[in-house]
Amino acid sequence: MTAGTSERTYQMYIDGKFVEPRTEKYLGSVNPVNGEQWYQVPDASAADVDAAVRAARKALHDPRWAGLTPTARGKLLRRVADAAAAFGDRIALVETQDNGKLIRDTRATYATVPMIWEYFAGWTDKIHGNLVPTADTTLNYLKREPVGVVAAIVPWNAPLTLASHKLAAALAMGNTVVLKPSEITSASILEFVEVLESAGLPPGVVNIVTGRGATAGDALVSHPGVDLITFTGGTDAGRAIAHRAAERHVRCLMELGGKSPNIVFGDADVANAANGLIAGIFAAAGQACTAGSRAYLHRDIYDEVLDRVVERAGRIRLGDPMLDDTEIGPVAYEAHMDRILDYVRLGQEEGATLRLGGARRTAGDLARGYFVEPTIFEGVRQDMRIAREEIFGPVLSVIPFETEEEVLGYANDTEFGLAAGVWTRDISRAHRMAHRLDAGTVWINTYRALSPIVPFGGFKASGHGKEGGMESLLEYSRLKSVWANLSDTPTNDPFVVQK
Ligand code: NAD
Repeated sequence: MTAGTSERTYQMYIDGKFVEPRTEKYLGSVNPVNGEQWYQVPDASAADVDAAVRAARKALHDPRWAGLTPTARGKLLRRVADAAAAFGDRIALVETQDNGKLIRDTRATYATVPMIWEYFAGWTDKIHGNLVPTADTTLNYLKREPVGVVAAIVPWNAPLTLASHKLAAALAMGNTVVLKPSEITSASILEFVEVLESAGLPPGVVNIVTGRGATAGDALVSHPGVDLITFTGGTDAGRAIAHRAAERHVRCLMELGGKSPNIVFGDADVANAANGLIAGIFAAAGQACTAGSRAYLHRDIYDEVLDRVVERAGRIRLGDPMLDDTEIGPVAYEAHMDRILDYVRLGQEEGATLRLGGARRTAGDLARGYFVEPTIFEGVRQDMRIAREEIFGPVLSVIPFETEEEVLGYANDTEFGLAAGVWTRDISRAHRMAHRLDAGTVWINTYRALSPIVPFGGFKASGHGKEGGMESLLEYSRLKSVWANLSDTPTNDPFVVQK
């Protein structure tokens, strides 16, 4: 399958074959640079999802998969990593056309995909289980097993990277997967099938159903054949999915939204901090779960830092994401742009002061695209919705502070707990803050540092469970305890508990 600029039709991937939807219905996907539809994908129904889950269940016990030793499974995943390495330019192009992120950004993001597969390939034969020191007359050991069929659902902002985290970790533990990409960006994940097949993945081990969250997604998370749900997306969808999971007592891993604080103390390196604030909110047009959308600036450096940020953000080049000198592309789709602009209006109604941006940019080549100006609000109060809700766009709220205690209160006063940034030269304060911030990731004098070998995941309404690192692997396993009697002496009393 190749990506092109003219419209094409992708199919779902079930049991090792590309298949058409039973309903024959399709959804169009639009390039956000020009608003033109460039491909369509099946709008899967519950019957399509059922076929995918059945294929995954069958593959779970297929000797071509279940019969692999952990070492052989690792070799297979390493072949995926090798094949993926040659695929970067093609996938980056597809993702840029799909979600409008800069080509240099999608290339850099894609570069982690082979690393993710390589990392988890290395773990397959190193999960040893454990021996528990019970009495001499008994043997107890703990073993890690695959959970079974994993339902994986991902959003549109980094489709293949987020999918690879789930796929590689789930497969490393011996599970099988049904994956549903976002209806906005299914193409790169479907293109990646070529990599999976070339590595020799048996049919049914990975199945991909496309379609809408409320239909295909809901059918998947409600399916009785699913043993574990792993979801990355918005907090509201996560809540709906967690309810479904609770109905059947299915475990779920949730990577959700954020409203992350980026805190600059008076002793910070002002130039670095200003760069960190800009990268935190304007990279990828603010469409990152970790976006540092709340800036807290100490009063001593408030004007200096804010002036720098406003000056640099005012010069950000919006434009075609395919060009190397573009700094912000369009946001991913029209309704999303409208939602961001609604938040800008709301901020003004709430009484915040618009210091920069705030509008759609339509001049010249941008006329048909979904371009939103880098936007900065001052005079923001903690209780305003622009300071509390995830906007997922290039909109920064700035709030001054005076003391450490005060800013900790502000930073933690949120339903979210995904990430936080701290800028200071005081090493004790940096770690004090890291200790007390309610966030799954804390960055000190940096922002957006991420790696597949480091566990990532939020607290509170930002989710639960980790992606990346060994912790992530364990999420895709279940722990079994096995007891054996070593004694030849008959137990005369059936009512005594063994230990
Ligand atoms: P979304 O929640 O609207 O959709 C995400 C996925 O869930 C899509 O595939 C969608 O079809 C599906 N979905 C939606 N409702 C569903 C339902 N009821 N049942 C089953 N599936 C359903 O999110 P989005 O707009 O695609 O992505 C943006 C969100 O993702 C932001 O909130 C962002 O913070 C979050 N995100 C989080 C992380 C993280 O690691 N924490 C990473 C990237 C994005």
